[in-house]
Amino acid sequence: MTSKKQPPFRAGFVAIVGRPNVGKSTLLNRVLGEHVAIVTPRPQTTRTRILGIWNAKGAQIAFFDTPGLHRAKGPLNRRMVEVALTTLDEVDAVLMLVEAGTGPDGRVEVGESTRWAIEEVARRRKPAILGISKMDRAPRATLLPVIDAYKGLHAWTDIVPFSGLTGENVDTLLEVLGKHLPESEAPLFPPDQLTDQAERALAAEYVREQVMLQTRQEIPYSVAVDVEEFDEAERRDDGGLVRISGVILVERESQKAIVIGKGGAMLKKIGTRARENLERLLGCKVFLGLTVKVEERWSERATALKRLGL
Ligand code: GDP
Ligand code: MG
Repeated sequence: MTSKKQPPFRAGFVAIVGRPNVGKSTLLNRVLGEHVAIVTPRPQTTRTRILGIWNAKGAQIAFFDTPGLHRAKGPLNRRMVEVALTTLDEVDAVLMLVEAGTGPDGRVEVGESTRWAIEEVARRRKPAILGISKMDRAPRATLLPVIDAYKGLHAWTDIVPFSGLTGENVDTLLEVLGKHLPESEAPLFPPDQLTDQAERALAAEYVREQVMLQTRQEIPYSVAVDVEEFDEAERRDDGGLVRISGVILVERESQKAIVIGKGGAMLKKIGTRARENLERLLGCKVFLGLTVKVEERWSERATALKRLGL
């Protein structure tokens, strides 16, 4: 008698790497169906890596969203790239993202920085899947030239075009990734666990996200948020209240004025949006108190970086 054998359960870690703004966080959020990694239209939003966990019947994938891989200037940027490179060493497979779309002349330019990133991926000798992101905004006919341009640069395990925005082909991408993870008797994390980021750290990320979104180009991404209080004393299983106080650190008085806004209007807007998102994340009421502080050149000081968990 023959019985159909179930394929083995697979579980492991996957790093999502690629240039800033290529769509890494958007993909992770789509996969997890929650607002876990922050997304803004500006590059370099993801400062630390975030672990998100995807659970399916036959596989569990733990994702690291990484700060963009690129040649970096300045201590903060260099530190971020180091985080991305270390992540590559620790995972079972790599998902490298590049953007769909060709130049106006129909050609695909693979930049020097991307070539460098591919070399870094190749050196690890791990299954590496190339994801071609943002397929929703590229005409079908332009996908082939993109595949052709990248095909020769590394022995990719698979090449999958997808859209993190619409979700198109994301299933295929996950299926392909799952196949290249080690067999495992059991999941690595409890299946109801979505992320290992402490809620406190996510609170800081949510505030920083709103600072960047609401102030647009006026505030550089070197802004930081320090959560000084995360008080769960009044939190209940079915809701309750969490009290959070945070300090928004900027580098100049002029930036402080922008973040606070006329009569405090900007800070109020930042606080309201961040609080609404936090209430959804934490499933309870949130009291969010925010202040703004100038700390000159904080991004160049190692102590500041360390305090912020970098
Ligand atoms: P990351 O820096 O690689 O994490 O990139 P993000 O996920 O933060 O996305 C950067 C920008 O690209 C944001 O404005 C996103 O809305 C946009 N974006 C990301 N994925 C897609 C996609 O699949 N399609 C389109 N059209 N835009 C996308
Ligand atoms: Mg990101």
